[in-house]
Amino acid sequence: MEKLQNYINGEWVSSKGTNYLDVVNPASQAVLAQVPAGNAGDVDAAANTAAAAFAEWRRVPAGKRIQYLFKLKTLLEENLDDLSKTITLESGKTYVEAKAEWIRAIENVENACGIPTLMQGEFSEDIAPGIDEYMIRQPLGVCACISPFNFPGMIPFWFLPYAIACGNSFIIKPSEKVPLTMTKVMALIHKLDLPKGVISMVHGGKEVVDALLEHPVIRAISFVGSSNIARYVYAKGAANGKRVQAQGGAKNPVFILPDADIDMTTQIIVDSVYGCAGQRCLAASNIITIGGHKDITESLVEASRKRVTGFGLDGDVQMGPVITPESKTRIHTLIEKGMAEGGQLLVDGRNAVISGYERGNFIAPTIIENIPLDGELAATEIFGPVMSLTHINTIEEAISLVNNNKYGNMACIFTSSGLHARKFRSEAEAGNIGINIGVAAPVAQFPFSGWKDSFFGDLHGQGKHAVEFFTQTKVVIERWLKEWTRKF
Ligand code: NAD
Repeated sequence: MEKLQNYINGEWVSSKGTNYLDVVNPASQAVLAQVPAGNAGDVDAAANTAAAAFAEWRRVPAGKRIQYLFKLKTLLEENLDDLSKTITLESGKTYVEAKAEWIRAIENVENACGIPTLMQGEFSEDIAPGIDEYMIRQPLGVCACISPFNFPGMIPFWFLPYAIACGNSFIIKPSEKVPLTMTKVMALIHKLDLPKGVISMVHGGKEVVDALLEHPVIRAISFVGSSNIARYVYAKGAANGKRVQAQGGAKNPVFILPDADIDMTTQIIVDSVYGCAGQRCLAASNIITIGGHKDITESLVEASRKRVTGFGLDGDVQMGPVITPESKTRIHTLIEKGMAEGGQLLVDGRNAVISGYERGNFIAPTIIENIPLDGELAATEIFGPVMSLTHINTIEEAISLVNNNKYGNMACIFTSSGLHARKFRSEAEAGNIGINIGVAAPVAQFPFSGWKDSFFGDLHGQGKHAVEFFTQTKVVIERWLKEWTRKF
């Protein structure tokens, strides 16, 4: 059984810890490899070599730094098939979903290639006679990212390309549930001939996260995961003087007005709810009709029943398993909770059995109708292929539901009325808004804008926010008096 290694200072090294965890294919329970649980010694080695690398790397002109990103983009594209299959094997999502994830990752590499312009400073001449003032952006130093299981490839790329293009060195801690994807990426990064220590990877779980949050040379932490851990990472990182951006969980409402196009709305909503088996922070979860939409229930039920569940590398499969048996049990318990709260199961996907993959963590599409909107299920992130379908009467109720939601990752509305859409866009308290869109995932040049318990910090991942996050501003005021001019 392959034991994964860390990538530190341009070399593959074994963890200093002795504990290893199984990396499991969620469709079959086959053990794919073993990943080190990791320890503080691993982080110390990565951080110290990253700090040494930073001293040189920050001096490499930005235009030269991005040449490595151009090469990385080519390598990622050349290896798209293998990288996508790896994501399917360890995370369960389908090959098509995995490939789409890589497209989003690569967009961030492309966007970060604009760093020579994006990190330019500002200059004001003559703020007083003979005095000019300017602001330059400088890199921070060693930065680290801690990523979740559900996007093993894309999420590290919300940060990595910007961090290194800005002149920082970077340490990645992938989710211990899906460490193979970034291990493969690191093998590609090894081919770039980057100066040693500019990018490192340390495997592990909580012990490694704590060591990253405590290590004195690490200046900034980018975290993506569940809200409780995001809050913990934000607080601990800040207490240790670090700059932190921590993206958390979600419970995304989607509203359907009577004037929404039924076929388009149905298709987009089922794609949003069941894509990646509902394991997306932008998955639609609470589907809520406003003012009655007589055919939508039937249409959603029919589309949900048609969705093909199975092993993500099999051709016709549209939805894979959830990540672990524990996750499957938790989702079953939540469905039962919704029923105990008064919900009716319109489509029951519990205990789906897939021929040839009987041990997989499969749950087929599930719809539960009429759960109370002030109940527990309506407020809980399910992170599985479960749609709650409820009905309300007014757009004002809809906005108040969004605004009382403790999460604020995404809220969507389906309508052909510009006026309702405009009101919703303006008043809904969520950071990513979809109008006739089911997964309002910002492309690379925009920030991934979670609000409330979906985000702790101020600068988000991607786009100009990433450039600001990975740089610190320095303001210089300088005086040059005419009298000092030498006569030639
Ligand atoms: P998670 O919080 O369990 O794990 C995320 C990371 O934190 C992993 O690297 C893990 O090793 C580490 N970790 C886990 N427990 C820890 C602890 N006690 N102390 C310190 N570190 C710990 O999240 P997950 O299950 O991997 O991912 C799913 C969650 O991530 C969902 O809640 C989802 O909504 C969220 N998510 C959010 C976004 C976003 O942009 N807001 C994107 C993707 C996923």
